Formats: sequence, structure tokens, C-alpha cells
Amino acid sequence: MIDFHAHLIFRQLFDQVSSTYTYLLADESTREALLIDCVFEQHERDVALLRELDLKLVVTLDTHCHADHVTGAWLMKQAVGSRVALSARYPARNVDLPLTHADKVHFGARALHVRETPGHTEGCLSFVSEDQTLVFTGDALLVRGAGRTDFQQGDPTTLFRSIREQLLSLPDACTILPAHDYEGRTSSTIGEERRYNPRIGGDAREEDFVGYMKNLGLPHPKQLGVAVPANLRCGEPENGLSPAVPAWGPVVTTYAGMREIAPDWVASHRDDVNVLDVRTPAELSGEFGYLDGARCIPLDELRSRLSEVPRDKPLVVVCQTGKRSALATVILARAGVTQVANVAGGLVRWRELGLPS
Ligand code: FE
Repeated sequence: MIDFHAHLIFRQLFDQVSSTYTYLLADESTREALLIDCVFEQHERDVALLRELDLKLVVTLDTHCHADHVTGAWLMKQAVGSRVALSARYPARNVDLPLTHADKVHFGARALHVRETPGHTEGCLSFVSEDQTLVFTGDALLVRGAGRTDFQQGDPTTLFRSIREQLLSLPDACTILPAHDYEGRTSSTIGEERRYNPRIGGDAREEDFVGYMKNLGLPHPKQLGVAVPANLRCGEPENGLSPAVPAWGPVVTTYAGMREIAPDWVASHRDDVNVLDVRTPAELSGEFGYLDGARCIPLDELRSRLSEVPRDKPLVVVCQTGKRSALATVILARAGVTQVANVAGGLVRWRELGLPS
């Protein structure tokens, strides 16, 4: 067996709205990656990370059909051609890889082993690394908690048995990575939960767990009516269309959250956009010169001179290396300039590409 952690790329990502953790795992040598529980609204972030780390996403896995957010699985498939994996127990559309107990999901030379852990929903899965050092528990076992069992065919007795037989049977040192946490806790271990989980740890018996779960008195999840039907399509919108991307040009959102556009596209579409240069006046007469027809407002003055920003065409912003102009796009977007992008790499890249200035 290979060392699961050697040359493993691992990221724990967070969606603040639903408190969902998304996990990226990738193999450094083959660049093959998988995503666990990606969130529809975080699609651009996740695509940017895959692009910047130069990874090939082979599959998206959902631990279950979520009730609190919509999965980004279908969107990912449209964007990068990844396969969609979900428990075979749900009557879901758009699933490429229907998973059942003891299946393996491969990326590079590694695999995650599938364990069925129903109880929160009837199709909940946990994913265990081959060496049993990591387990992605979805909403079955949470840090000092367990997923609610009061909707979506949830059943506390089933969940008790899933956790005891399929999860707490793993080695004490095995790290637990849950699908959610509402208190900022990012991980735990099997040994820790076996001792300290207030619902199922210590000497808890089935009736203790069931009694606890039946009396949680949680509010009905706000997103339930929207999320579950959407997740039974693996996140495909009802109209079957991907959310609109900027129509005016090939704008790319970076993992840092900035909207960028390639300098060569700008050079060949100069009549379609306005150019804003945010360098200081002294720099305009320096080695890089300036782009023909550019409006110049130094970054320091941008917030007080927003009324001078031309708005009749999409706006591209430039500086020396693309750092100050990136901040300028954020300032402009906050000021209501919706069609705005940073010229990637600034005038340094512009000159490297031999584009006309
Ligand atoms: Fe859930």
C-alpha cells in the first residue's frame, strides 16, 4: 500500500453561508484530484483553485443529498468534465458513479473506500483513506455531534449503528473530517469522539443516543425545500443552464477572488473596452509608457474620483504588475461598476507578450 499522505495535496475549504466544509484531495505526481461536498455558490472559488494548482478534477463526491445547500457537482462537470458520484440509494439524476458500500474511488495512485453510514439520510456515505488515517464523515459523525435525524428518512437507531459499527471501529488516531461545523472546529479523531462525543461517546447506549436525537428540537432547515430537489439533480439548475458568466469577455475569477482578463484579449479588443490606469503620474512617463487612450486615476485617488470612471463600456484596469489594479477592480465593483476586470500581470506581462502600447 502506498503512503497515503506522501505527496498528497489537501485543502479544507469553507462556505460561510451553510458552514459546509469542502475537501480537495489531489495526487502531486499525476495531478488528479477529487472534491468532497463542493458547494454551488463556491464554484468559482473551487475552479480557480484547481486551475492555480494545475489539477485535473476526476470526480466530485457528495457524502449525501444535502438539505442545507446545493451541491456544485453538476456545475463542476460542465466546467471541467469531472464525474459525479453519489450514493446509489437516492433516486437522483445526473449521477455518473452510483456508489455503494466497499466501492473504491480512485485519484492518482490513491483511493478512498466507501462506507455506507445511513441514519442522517438513507444514502449517507463516509469515505475512508486506504490507510485509515482520514475519514470524511459527512453529517453522520460531526465534531462532538451527529447529523440530525428528523427529516429525509433520518433514523436515530440506524445512525447509532452506522457510527458505532462503521466509524468508531476505525483506529483511534484516524482523523475525522466532517461536512459541517458551526463552532469553528475543523477536525477531530475517532479516539476523541469515542470519549467525548456528548451524544454517542463514552458509555452511551442506543436508547441514550435515540433519546438525545429525538429531543434536539431544531428549527426546520430553511433551504430544505429548494436544496433537496436540486441535489436530486446533483445541482443542475431547473432550467438546465449554468449561471451566467460575464458576456463581454473571458473574465476569470482567481482563488483570491479577483476578476482578471488576459492582456492579449484586451489588446485585440481595444475598441470594446475602456482602459483605466491606476499608477502614479510619474510612472506614466517611465519605462512601460501607457496604453493608448487610457484614463489615468492613481489608486490613492480612486475612491474620491469614482465619478470620473467611464462607464459606457466594460472597464479593464491596469498598473505595473497587476497588483494595484486588482485592488482597484474590487473598489470599482463595490462602487457598482459591474463590468470590470484586472489586466492580468499588468504592463510587465503586456510588454513580455510584445503587445502594442
Ligand atoms: Fe446534511
